[in-house]
Amino acid sequence: MRRSKTVFVDSDILVVGGGMGGCGATYESRYWGRDLKIVCVEKANIERSGAVAQGLYAINCYMGMQWDENQPEDHVRYARNDLMGLVREDLGYDIARHVDSTVHKFEEWGLPIMRDPKTGRYQREGKWQIMIHGESYKPIVAEAARKAATEVYNRIMVTHLLMDQTRPNRVAGAVGFNVRTGDFYVFRAKAVIVAAGGASHIFKPRAVGEGMGRTWYAPWSSASAYALPILAGAKMTQMENRIVLTRFKDGYGPVGAYFLHLKTYTQNAYGQDYEAFWRDSIEQMVGDYVNHHPVPTCLRNHALLEEVKAGRGPIRMVTKEAFKDPHKETIGWENFLGMTIGQAVVWASQNIDPKEINPELTTSEPYVMGSHATCSGAWASGPEDYAPAEYQWGYNRMMTVEGLFGAGDTIGGTAHKFSSGSFTEGRIAGKAAVKYVDDLGNQPPQVSEAEYEDLKKTVYQPMENYAVGRNEIVAGTVSPSYLLPIHGLQRLEKIMDEYVGGIGAHYTTNEPLLTRGLELLTMLKEDLAHIGAEDLHQLQRAWELQHRVLASECVTQHTLFRQETRWPGYYYRADHPKLDDQDWHCFTLSRYDQDSGTWAMEKAPVYHIID
Ligand SMILES: Cc1cc2nc3c(=O)[nH]c(=O)nc-3n(C[C@H](O)[C@H](O)[C@H](O)COP(=O)(O)OP(=O)(O)OC[C@H]3O[C@@H](n4cnc5c(N)ncnc54)[C@H](O)[C@@H]3O)c2cc1C
Repeated sequence: MRRSKTVFVDSDILVVGGGMGGCGATYESRYWGRDLKIVCVEKANIERSGAVAQGLYAINCYMGMQWDENQPEDHVRYARNDLMGLVREDLGYDIARHVDSTVHKFEEWGLPIMRDPKTGRYQREGKWQIMIHGESYKPIVAEAARKAATEVYNRIMVTHLLMDQTRPNRVAGAVGFNVRTGDFYVFRAKAVIVAAGGASHIFKPRAVGEGMGRTWYAPWSSASAYALPILAGAKMTQMENRIVLTRFKDGYGPVGAYFLHLKTYTQNAYGQDYEAFWRDSIEQMVGDYVNHHPVPTCLRNHALLEEVKAGRGPIRMVTKEAFKDPHKETIGWENFLGMTIGQAVVWASQNIDPKEINPELTTSEPYVMGSHATCSGAWASGPEDYAPAEYQWGYNRMMTVEGLFGAGDTIGGTAHKFSSGSFTEGRIAGKAAVKYVDDLGNQPPQVSEAEYEDLKKTVYQPMENYAVGRNEIVAGTVSPSYLLPIHGLQRLEKIMDEYVGGIGAHYTTNEPLLTRGLELLTMLKEDLAHIGAEDLHQLQRAWELQHRVLASECVTQHTLFRQETRWPGYYYRADHPKLDDQDWHCFTLSRYDQDSGTWAMEKAPVYHIID
């Protein structure tokens, strides 16, 4: 058995994940908790970690209240419409009312925000987006968190949360291992804020084999944001609400700046504007939502998918006109260079000059995340001054586990928060966690030695499996007694793709498929006890896989539970092909019981607070 040193770290507030939400939580915890010990733990290095690692070209959530451009209520209406009526309006409003101050801080810390030369205001890309020179967005934000934290622990993969031994359903910290030294870490904390990003690679991606890492969401976003709370017994919401993105083919380059700023548009292979062809049939599926402005993201995906199925693909973005304007051409390329360099490289390698050729668009494989145009995540308590009583059971952004908070992709029901909204939500969670810690008084949680010693054995078991099993084979990677993380990942992606509505199934599923998918996921879970890790890097892969599998099971359970097709273009329940407001204008909630391995599902009401 591997002998690893155990390092103990005590803190008042532990932030798991140092991306946008985690940096916001760390920063704000220090503001309200001057004397508290605030620790941020990150599996990479916060300098360049998370979905913003490569930089961004736009901040997608900014109200512009100083110029009376939008009000928080407007943003709630927008998100509600885009998500076909189902958002946590209290949480969304809470972010929208504070997000501008976050953006102003970013500018103060050195983030260059473009200005409209005529008005002097921030340069708008769209109604909610402002344009930035954002290659260094993440290092700038990370610096603020670094200065605020008592300690940042980089290169530590958190695998499990710890529970209080004196009180059920209360968090007490987390454990993980250093991916470079192999040391085991026990973090004891009074409050924990999970901000560990969304989930890519749970569905089979379009690019496999040599291009496997080429996905839209960051390949290192490995579902810890969901698995950690799920394992601790936290309720999850809207996990069926996976997102599918329409993006430039093969490089997943963003289309927002193209549509909104360059005013490019799409057409089918024969030069036709195809969206109108599908309006009537969409109306039959979802009713009036298709007539709303803007048309919800999923419905626009749906029109594209139907057009391709009708044999009139590929769908192209008409860039030839816009790129004749040198200013727009510069913006078009800079957009990629600031955030998705790979798309520029793909175009160069495929002889695509957008001035001469209209590039192809395609839809991505599904992702699970709570900060983009989708709502998956943990079920959280709302703001005291605004949330309906049923959405309040404690501190703002606290999950249904006491002392456990979340932000960014972690928290469900709050689509369209993006980078600035995730940081803002981290700030909100940080402030609430400080209050929680202050109120705890002399009843801090206690960690059981037996619990973390057991977890230590569990965490390193894959290395043990490999060390023993490797002796049974003389060469190669296929062993009778262990499964490598890559093999487990490919098996997971295949199950999710074929049974839960991935690209291979045209995003379509039904009850028999989902039921079979759950059986196969259960078998995969059993086999994960035999996962083998050759080194610490593979050990990280092994735990990322464990987290992905648990999150996938949750997605499948939710998809089975919601008997309707709420978001055509994201996924289809072929056995319930229409939106059903009468029975399903509600949130879906799940709770996992680790001991029995069972899921309890329920509905929760959607309160419309804003007219
Ligand atoms: C391709 C792409 C384009 C985008 N474009 C825009 C845009 O133009 N404008 C905009 O405003 N937003 C954009 N976003 C959205 C924005 O990036 C996210 O909303 C935001 O980063 C979410 O914040 P988060 O803290 O939840 O996750 P992240 O920022 O991804 O942070 C999660 C952190 O947790 C760490 N972590 C994960 N698991 C563990 C673990 N087990 N232990 C320890 N640490 C862990 C990760 O390494 C990471 O640092 C884009 C996202 C993507 C992927």
